[in-house]
Amino acid sequence: MIEINELIGVVKDSGVCGAGGAGFPSYGKIDVRAKTIILNCAECEPLLRLHRQVLEKYPYEILSTLYQMALSIGCDQVIIGVKEAYKHTVEAVHAHLRSFPIISIGLLPEVYPAGDEVVLIHELTGKVVPPGSIPIQVGVAVFNVETVFNIYQALNMKRPVTHKFVTITGEVKAPCTRYVPLGMTVESVVALAGGVTVENPVYLLGGPMTGNLGGKDDLITKTSNAIIVLPENHLVVQKKRRNTQISMKRAMASCCQCEMCTDLCPRNLLGHPIQPHLFMRAATSGSTQDVGTFLNTFFCCSCGLCEMYSCNQDLTPRTLITEYKGGLRANGVKPPKVEPAPVKKARSLRRVPISRLRARLGLDIYNVKAPLDESYIIADHVRIKTSQHIGAPAVPIVKAGDLVKEGQKIGEAAENALSLPVHASIDGVVTSVSAQEIEIKTR
Ligand code: SF4
Ligand code: SF4
Repeated sequence: MIEINELIGVVKDSGVCGAGGAGFPSYGKIDVRAKTIILNCAECEPLLRLHRQVLEKYPYEILSTLYQMALSIGCDQVIIGVKEAYKHTVEAVHAHLRSFPIISIGLLPEVYPAGDEVVLIHELTGKVVPPGSIPIQVGVAVFNVETVFNIYQALNMKRPVTHKFVTITGEVKAPCTRYVPLGMTVESVVALAGGVTVENPVYLLGGPMTGNLGGKDDLITKTSNAIIVLPENHLVVQKKRRNTQISMKRAMASCCQCEMCTDLCPRNLLGHPIQPHLFMRAATSGSTQDVGTFLNTFFCCSCGLCEMYSCNQDLTPRTLITEYKGGLRANGVKPPKVEPAPVKKARSLRRVPISRLRARLGLDIYNVKAPLDESYIIADHVRIKTSQHIGAPAVPIVKAGDLVKEGQKIGEAAENALSLPVHASIDGVVTSVSAQEIEIKTR
């Protein structure tokens, strides 16, 4: 059994952070207060494929790593949270469960956002993470599939994080999931899927709900889950391009206080005090009488359901809440301490089916297979970002002209801060170094 401090050291030194989402350094989640580990294979964003594919391909590697982690941390149980709809993945996990008595499987419904940690924990354990708290406060640590795969490689192959599984889909010739070197450009990764099939393609980086529009020169990082290519006039593109000031004016004119955004809000349904319809009323009227409505914006998880699905006036509660919340943080305001209300009785009836979400967003035509292809990719040029995780950026330890090998550390974790190192993703020569990026070209 690996001792917990050694596990923390290996995970940190290998540069492992959450492979998706915000990229929280994984060593920070290895905590003796965790009594349960949950593997997050909800993958609830429409069109994404990679996590279920990796778990289907590497079930033993992932389960054995979770088992090792549980022993080191002192956890009583491990739950594999996977959607019942991912039948091949569920079968692959079942085939290995008998080898690991503390590991069980928890089947999730095909709803959005099943992968939000607070929702996931409630679905699998019945616990509610208090508003503003993190999972460890209810004794749970959540890791997604690729993160555990990266820990497996770090522990068993001494391989740091140099590559990322990315689903490339939408308007491309051959949708697929590839294992690509960090630091490749979006354009070069899309070429691996045969190139685009529309004029003026728009690149959505991440899922349709929480991803952002990017450009062809954007770089693959440790959190890049997907590139979805869409035509310019696609509904999702139009929604993502909305201007905040105009959105506020539209909200002033047409928010009818129907409360649909609150009725379907997944955090509100779990008893958290976020009520987007009240925020919209207060923000659009300029009223500051109810300060609590503004402070409660801290409890929005930015899932996007309110503005991508719920609002019948096509308004943007999430965007406005996010902007407001950012302003509070910038001014040093902290989330208030509040107890959750009881879970809403209607919750099970108000979860949003993925099929309906996909249809409403006009994504059904892109709901095709994107097979996992792990063939080696030769990249002639990468730009490795020093900040691919939450926390302080890595500090470069190479200079222009240095020769580096794939897997070699090129940036050290910042001292006395939450931080991670970065490693070369290809063999080559360092051609430029800045505080933000390290460029490597093959010789
Ligand atoms: S769903 Fe839209 S119109 Fe209804 S209260 Fe929320 S923001 Fe206003
Ligand atoms: S984005 Fe909207 S639906 Fe999601 S948690 Fe925030 S307010 Fe609720």
